[in-house]
Amino acid sequence: SQVASTNGDKGDLRLETLTKEFGTFTAVDAIDLVVPQGHFFALLGPSGCGKTTTLRMVAGLETPTSGHIMLGEREVTYEKPYRRPVNTVFQNYALFPHLDIFENIAFGLRRRKVSDVREQVGAMLSLVELESQAKKMPSQLSGGQQQRVALARALINEPEVLLLDEPLGALDLKLRRAMQIELKRIQTEVGLTFVHVTHDQEEAMTMADTIAVMNAGVIEQMGPPSVLYDNPATTYVANFLGQSNLIAGEIVGNDADSLVVEMQGTKASIPRDRAHTDSGAGWVGIRPEKVLISEIDGVLDAPGSRIAGGVISDVSFVGVSTQYLVKMPWGQELMVFEQNTGHRGLFQVGTPVDLSWHPEYAFLLDADQDVE
Ligand code: ATP
Repeated sequence: SQVASTNGDKGDLRLETLTKEFGTFTAVDAIDLVVPQGHFFALLGPSGCGKTTTLRMVAGLETPTSGHIMLGEREVTYEKPYRRPVNTVFQNYALFPHLDIFENIAFGLRRRKVSDVREQVGAMLSLVELESQAKKMPSQLSGGQQQRVALARALINEPEVLLLDEPLGALDLKLRRAMQIELKRIQTEVGLTFVHVTHDQEEAMTMADTIAVMNAGVIEQMGPPSVLYDNPATTYVANFLGQSNLIAGEIVGNDADSLVVEMQGTKASIPRDRAHTDSGAGWVGIRPEKVLISEIDGVLDAPGSRIAGGVISDVSFVGVSTQYLVKMPWGQELMVFEQNTGHRGLFQVGTPVDLSWHPEYAFLLDADQDVE
């Protein structure tokens, strides 16, 4: 399409020891990251972690205290916002209320006195699937449609990087889910770098090629969604992206591919590439859906690490799965999510059970961290 063909020789976005202090408070603390050209990148973290400040520095709306912002070979750290090849779509995507959809999208082109306005706006309307709405006024569109107009209005300026600051925050849940898929489709089609700020882990996982998890001004971990989920490096990431069981243990053995951890009287094996500490105390982590429940002396096959002496303390049926809490002899309640395939009955509260998991699913985290 015309839009994709405008995407020529563009560079990676690079943040180097980027720092922002407000008085004595460090909102962004020497972060380093590279967003390869054409990637969908998500900055994920709770309110106040510094993600919006990071985005505003890239946009030029906030001056860094120190560090560098590079676009390809070009340093833009102190450049004026309008000189940067960067556009932002905000949550409150104020469209011009007195202009129709066509003119809202055409606005940037008219200012630049571009000659083929009709063709370019037509291509944009088609990209965001709003061809039939061109003559309508913003107030006549739904929230999701208005959001797509805001996106088209930003994309038509041909930025190298599009920044999205909680762009779906104002939409209801169902529309949000639909727009996540839509945004991902559009990003793939135009091939531009998108940097998306969100506190919603499911949103980040749905859309992003790479997620950076931010916490208190620093990046805790960065990688593809599946790596962050399957192999979290910190307790913070383990709990922020989904839910984790974290069981206190002590490293007692060490071989080529795995570590052996003594955990509440049993031994667990952890693959070396999922061990984020290599001596002393650690947290053995296992996702609730990776844990198998079996009745004591049950016939279920239970490979790998096995812990005995649990008692079912809570059962919640949630449609696709059943979620159990299992009280262990040392007092901790572990979570087990079992897919509802219709093959098995529910375990009742009070049933004594064993828990087990395949060793390859476990991870090991440094004990020197808080567990929320
Ligand atoms: P949210 O999703 O709530 O916007 P965030 O992760 O985007 O959160 P930031 O907006 O980047 O967080 O703010 C990070 C921290 O910096 C917060 O503690 C905030 O109070 C502080 N902060 C942001 N802007 C300023 C400012 N202009 N002056 C002083 N402190 C600020």
